[in-house]
Formats: sequence, structure tokens, C-alpha cells
Amino acid sequence: MRTINKFVKVKTLAEAYELNQKRSNVVLGGFMWLKMGNQAIQTAIDLSGLGLDQIEENDEGFQIGSMCTLRDLERHEGLDEYFQGAVREAVHHIVGVQFRNGATVGGSVFGRYGFSDVLTCLMALDCQVELYQRGIVPLKEFAQMKHDNDILMRVLIKKDGRKISYQSQRHAKTDFPVIAVAVARKENQFFVSVGARPMKAGVIEKSGWLPASSRSDREIEALADWAKDQFIYGSNMRATSEYREHLAYVYIKRGVKEVLGNDH
Ligand SMILES: Cc1cc2nc3c(=O)[nH]c(=O)nc-3n(C[C@H](O)[C@H](O)[C@H](O)COP(=O)(O)OP(=O)(O)OC[C@H]3O[C@@H](n4cnc5c(N)ncnc54)[C@H](O)[C@@H]3O)c2cc1C
Repeated sequence: MRTINKFVKVKTLAEAYELNQKRSNVVLGGFMWLKMGNQAIQTAIDLSGLGLDQIEENDEGFQIGSMCTLRDLERHEGLDEYFQGAVREAVHHIVGVQFRNGATVGGSVFGRYGFSDVLTCLMALDCQVELYQRGIVPLKEFAQMKHDNDILMRVLIKKDGRKISYQSQRHAKTDFPVIAVAVARKENQFFVSVGARPMKAGVIEKSGWLPASSRSDREIEALADWAKDQFIYGSNMRATSEYREHLAYVYIKRGVKEVLGNDH
């Protein structure tokens, strides 16, 4: 069980950042992951009074406040329409509605978990994170950075016309995924993100792939085979590395077909 000695609902991000520089202090998202631990928290830093619980949409893209919940992502009509249901599909299988009403985007992205559906999906999009101290950083770069004491303010997703497909596989409903795959396409450029390997999601790009007329099943299989080989897979209690690699191949292939749509 966690004990919290002091709870501070901060009034500014500067106050949150300053408090977060002390190692025994902790920023709270939805507290869903944190509550699984047992180390005492000296000061819990609550960001809920900073207006970071909004998803803003304009012609350029989406700005998602770190205190938005996974349920907010799931239910946002603009995200749903623009990304063809992929964001909804990525979060829909995470535990249950009550859980998703609590877990936040900030906690999910800052945590950079090896099983993360959220990270896998966002990685295939043109996505950046806005940090209080460091400023705007591409998500791909942020995923590789060491955990530090910065504050994640927003997740920024550009509207660049990408088509995206998201798929995951679980042994049982509400469990962690055994594999998570997102495939996105921007004209002739393909982005493949594979997570829950069980390592945090990574993304690869393939530009200038075959013209539409040449995209036969065999060529798609060759692309999926190449793409799955760009990632490392591990074994754990849920699956072996060989099984995960095979699943990645199958889901990448399906994803490529989906984002090709009528061009296949
Ligand atoms: C039982 C269980 C099952 C889960 N299953 C899945 C799953 O299948 N798929 C999936 O993708 N995810 C899954 N998750 C993860 C979940 O979706 C959230 O990502 C996770 O709970 C963290 O979100 P939170 O809001 O609870 O963050 P918290 O637990 O509050 O915080 C997590 C970490 O992020 C830090 N943090 C939070 N917000 C910020 C911020 N704005 N700036 C800086 N640091 C911050 C905290 O200090 C802490 O270190 C699961 C979690 C649990 C507990």
C-alpha cells in the first residue's frame, strides 16, 4: 500500500516542477499505476487544477492535455474520425471503463511502459510531447530518453493525412497485450510501430515503397516480413519471442492492407 505524507494541488506548472525536483515527491496522473507500488510518497503533486484536462482540435492537429483520461481519448469524436477509430481501438481494451476514466494520458505517456497500447498507437502518428522544462520533443525521441523530473504538459498530434490501423492481441480481456501493432501510411510513406514485445514501442519508416499497381499480396508480405525483422522480441510469462515475432508479422501485414485500402 502507498502512503502519501502531503498532498499539494499546485496552482502553477512552475510550482509542480519545483516540487518534482525532490526525489521522494511524485507527480500524480490518475494514480492507477502508482497505487500498485508501496514506496512512501513524501509530497504528491496534483496537476488537476491546471486546466490540462482538455483535448483541443484545430486545422493543424490535436493538443491533448496530460490530465485527459484514456476514456476522453476513446470518446473524442475528432480523434475518432481523423484517425479512423485507431486511437479508440488502442485504448478500448485497457482494463475497463472505470479504469479508463481514471488513467491519464500523462501517466501513460510519461511512464513509457513496455506493454503500452497508448505509446504504440501514438508512435505511428506525427506526435510530439510538450514538457515544462525541455519544451517540445518528438515522441520517438522522448520514448528513448531517461526518466527525469520534468512535467509532461501535453501530447501534440499533427493532422498530416495519415491513415492508421491499430491492432493488439490479448490472451484474455483486460490483460496486458501480448503484442501491439500500429501501421500508418502517409501517401507512399509507411510507419510501423510494434509494442508489448514486451519492450516499449519503437517505430520504423519505409519510404518510396512500391507504386500502387505493384502492391500484390506477395509484396505486402515481403514488407511485413522486413518490418517485423526491424524489432527485437522477448519472452515472458505471456508469450515466447518467436510467437510475438509471428504475431507482429501477421498484424503488420493486416495493418498494411488496411491502410492501403483501395490502393491494394
Ligand atoms: C492493472 C493495470 C493494467 C493495465 N493495462 C494496460 C494495458 O493493457 N495497456 C496499456 O496501454 N496500459 C495499461 N495500463 C497502464 C495504464 O493505462 C496507465 O498508463 C497507467 O495506469 C498510468 O497512468 P496513470 O494516469 O494511472 O498514471 P500514474 O499512476 O498516476 O503515474 C504513472 C507515472 O507517470 C508519472 N506522471 C503522471 N503524470 C505525469 C505528468 N503529467 N508529467 C510527468 N510525470 C507524470 C507519475 O509520477 C508516475 O511515475 C495498465 C495499468 C494497470 C495498473
